[in-house]
Amino acid sequence: MKSAEVRLENISKQYHRLTAVDNVSLKIEPGSMIALLGPSGCGKTTCLRMIAGLIRPTSGGIFVNNADITHVPVHRRNIGMLFQNYALFPHLTVEENIAFGLEMRGIKKAAAKARVAEALTLVQLSSFGGRYPAQLSGGQQQRVALGRALVIEPAMLLLDEPLGALDKGLRESMQVELRALQQRLGLTTIMVTHDQDEALTMADKIVVMRAGNLEQVGSATEIYQRPVSKFVASFIGVSNMFEGAVERREGAGGLVAAKSGIRLQVDSMPSMASSDVTVSIRPEAITVEKANGLEVADRPNVVAARVEQVIYRGFISHYYLRTQGGQQLIAFEQNQLHTTGLRHTVGDEVVARWDASSNHVIPNP
Ligand code: ATP
Repeated sequence: MKSAEVRLENISKQYHRLTAVDNVSLKIEPGSMIALLGPSGCGKTTCLRMIAGLIRPTSGGIFVNNADITHVPVHRRNIGMLFQNYALFPHLTVEENIAFGLEMRGIKKAAAKARVAEALTLVQLSSFGGRYPAQLSGGQQQRVALGRALVIEPAMLLLDEPLGALDKGLRESMQVELRALQQRLGLTTIMVTHDQDEALTMADKIVVMRAGNLEQVGSATEIYQRPVSKFVASFIGVSNMFEGAVERREGAGGLVAAKSGIRLQVDSMPSMASSDVTVSIRPEAITVEKANGLEVADRPNVVAARVEQVIYRGFISHYYLRTQGGQQLIAFEQNQLHTTGLRHTVGDEVVARWDASSNHVIPNP
């Protein structure tokens, strides 16, 4: 299959007074997979449907391998689509369901047969060709829908919450399977999801959307480790956020005084106009120790706290702490196998500490 480079140039979609997608530009490398991620109503589906040709943009252009397809009708875009409600034809067998798109394109029965067999192999359903959808599990039905999307040898694949109907376990194994297949085929793929884990698992690049705009575009690690805004920091994973002001700069880093009284030593400080910042710290960066009369005093990146809640999650435990300044702090610590009891229990007086490199500074707008 030939892979496409997809480019959105200043795409907008206006519904009366509502701007569903607001002047979005984005380049998707050939053979890569991107995830459009964001809360309900942020414009993900509208973006995807404009690429598919199901919705006409109010302004802007869509380019595939530099060809302007903005006004090309859906059936001439050579796009494979897989949506949550994949609606297989119940009265057709698996083979017939997959062959349907080929027949619509006027491909002769004999040629279609070979391509259907190939698609069945791709989605690991070779021995299921004669079955009807009702005789398949949810995951198998979803694979048939995927086979139907792939059999036309599309230049790109569009997925809208493709695994949304599956239960957690199956969903996770299908994520890995779908990603492996996408990489093997080198097929440019754009996926819409509101599930951050799905985006982190599957995509080369994550596009975080908010109110019709692109908030941040980056790899999973960039988005997780260097969120550009409080919105991204709280949307992907869990973050401890400290509101504060830059007290002084030292080299590339400096010191931030948080409103809650904590002092934060940071390694890297972005250049910015105002000194108002938010410092984000991931819970796994925080180490929790018994207080045992330890003197915290004025030291940066150290705070005395009391354990308010403990949640055991198997591999890790979540500790909800309350600092003396009244701020809530969440720390994740890995549990040791074969030990009984957790390191800390509710009511313990503790000291929480973290490295300067774990403080991520976000300028306040
Ligand atoms: P979800 O995760 O809930 O599917 P989304 O991010 O995909 O959300 P869109 O479906 O793209 O969001 O919708 C973006 C905005 O456009 C929403 O405010 C929605 O109400 C609005 N919208 C979508 N379709 C229409 C329409 N046909 N007419 C009017 N408004 C619409």
